[in-house]
Amino acid sequence: MQIAKNTAVQINYTLKNDAGEVLDSSEGGEPLAYLQGNGNLIPGLEKALEGKQAGDAINVTIPPEEAYGVSDATLIQDVPRSAFEGIKDIEVGMQFHAESNHGPRTVTVTKVGTDTITVDGNHPLADQTLHFAVQVIDVRAASKEELSHGHVHGPGGHHH
Ligand code: ZN
Repeated sequence: MQIAKNTAVQINYTLKNDAGEVLDSSEGGEPLAYLQGNGNLIPGLEKALEGKQAGDAINVTIPPEEAYGVSDATLIQDVPRSAFEGIKDIEVGMQFHAESNHGPRTVTVTKVGTDTITVDGNHPLADQTLHFAVQVIDVRAASKEELSHGHVHGPGGHHH
């Protein structure tokens, strides 16, 4: 069976950045299970996998526009230190959940000043070109329940 919209797919993958550093990998764990065509994966990866079948292996380079997006300067904000009342030792790299104009999102501290803290609400992989090596392990039709949930159940998928 070929990968098409609403098929349940299992893949092994390794994700590297432009510098060749491994950012994420399924190696050593169970394969990732996802539902094709439902936004489970970044758009560029779903596009590259469309039509592939079990046993296929692909290497694909995905530009930021089809991955985690281009960073948005309006999501980088200076906030007064007083907004972090009760939190000691704020350091670069710490992540917080915050309310923003775009709804709740995770922000990362990028600069710690005397009076202000700079936080960035962009995805940590924004602006990055991603290099995926993917092996397709299994492709099957999704169940009605999986389709109604928009994700795959069982190994590598959701357990609930
Ligand atoms: Zn579910």
